[in-house]
Amino acid sequence: MNGKYWILAAPLIWPDNRRGLTLEVERLLQPDLEHGRAPDQEGPDGRALLLVSLDAYPRITYNLGQAQADLVLDEVQRTLTEFVGENGLVLRSGQDEFAVLLRRADANEARRVALGIQGRARGVECGLTRPLLSVSVGARTADAGEGAEEVIATAGVALEAAKAGGRGKLKLFEPFMLDALEVRHRLSSDLAEAVREGALTVAYQPIVSLKTGRVQGVEALARWAHPALGPIRPDEFLPLAEELGIAGELDHHVLTTALAQTRTWLRDLPLEPDFSVSVNITASQLAHLEYIDGVRRALSEAGVPAGALVLEITEASFVAGDDVDTYSLLGLRRLGVGLDIDDFGTGYSSISYLRRLPVNRVKIDRSLLGDVAEDPAQRRFLGAVLRLVEACGLSVVMEGIETAEQALVVAELGADAGQGYHFSRPLPAEQMTAFLEDALDHPLAPFSEGPERSARR
Ligand code: C2E
Ligand code: CA
Ligand code: CA
Repeated sequence: MNGKYWILAAPLIWPDNRRGLTLEVERLLQPDLEHGRAPDQEGPDGRALLLVSLDAYPRITYNLGQAQADLVLDEVQRTLTEFVGENGLVLRSGQDEFAVLLRRADANEARRVALGIQGRARGVECGLTRPLLSVSVGARTADAGEGAEEVIATAGVALEAAKAGGRGKLKLFEPFMLDALEVRHRLSSDLAEAVREGALTVAYQPIVSLKTGRVQGVEALARWAHPALGPIRPDEFLPLAEELGIAGELDHHVLTTALAQTRTWLRDLPLEPDFSVSVNITASQLAHLEYIDGVRRALSEAGVPAGALVLEITEASFVAGDDVDTYSLLGLRRLGVGLDIDDFGTGYSSISYLRRLPVNRVKIDRSLLGDVAEDPAQRRFLGAVLRLVEACGLSVVMEGIETAEQALVVAELGADAGQGYHFSRPLPAEQMTAFLEDALDHPLAPFSEGPERSARR
């Protein structure tokens, strides 16, 4: 027996976590009798291992500082221990991960405990802060006699599946997850290669003035056609890119591609004087001080004036309201690029940052559009949001306009511009060139479908 382990075992076994966890799981999986328990004891026969991982721990550390983040972890461990009580054992199994070992647990019991843990974690308080934690849980039920290593590894697979589904998810291990994991790993390495080789392409979607019907600009959207699997949605490959730490490279590729294309459009077409190309940036990029330099260099290499570039930053990235971010935004503004808040209304909306941040424009998420053409209450709600943004001195782009009726209502409510399938789907560069040429001759009336105008699908 490893003597060191027993010293570290109570109450924390981290950082000597792996060995400690294996030993404890081995004990858990011992048949009842050998462990000195009566087989007829209450509850199901099985055992369960829950791996509980704190979501976004690096962000917590970044926001609260290491010392406070450590206290949060201690508090989480205390909360879990209290919740699990006599029914199980809680160990720290990694920097931001805990293992919960349950005896007499079947899948239902494992799920019940996991949901309880998630509920408790949300309420964890730490000094004056209540950090609203979410935890992902991977669970594996097991029978006495199973191998500890394999139970731990498959619980890990379930945890990975939970995390892949977003924050605060719970997954019970199922054998198909092993296949899914393999596909994911393969996608990851293919994506890394595609980004390295510049194989991602860019599609463009017009942003149309609802006052004049002119195309004000286009948004550049990353596209990835996998050689074997075909097109993969950005919602799938962008989180992978973040995980792989190549989101910055990906964004930069889109930025340089979009700027080169914009240079051609500005040269060849008599566009509106304030025509701009909008490019999305991953929130974490803002924290890199070199980011601004990268943008400056990309602009000068492409020969595009800073005023023709707009960067879109999602609302969620401002929640923290960190000084670093505001600082970067000011730096970008000084360069002369426009800044939009993207996906406004998707969760964290805070009016205060609309007034505080150095941004020009707000893109309202299509979830706020709802049934606006039919539902008067929705119309009043959206109208109020538009007035609020206007009161902050910002202009508005309404996203996700799919029908002429929606375009009409949104225009009447006072939105400056719109984007959505009603005007055009995102198109490859050549098709967007044709679209822009066409739109120069016939401005897009937001109010009607027009002869064969708008709905180009
Ligand atoms: P987003 O920035 O909100 O981009 C608009 C998304 O809405 C696009 O999805 C677009 O195809 C879709 N869309 C446009 N009009 C309509 C409509 O009328 N109805 C509906 N239902 N959808 C519409 P897409 O291309 O799948 O991109 C998804 C998200 O991925 C984007 O959302 C953006 O946040 C992100 N993204 C795309 N390209 C990049 C990139 O190069 N870098 C970064 N960091 N994020 C990107
Ligand atoms: Ca966007
Ligand atoms: Ca958006």
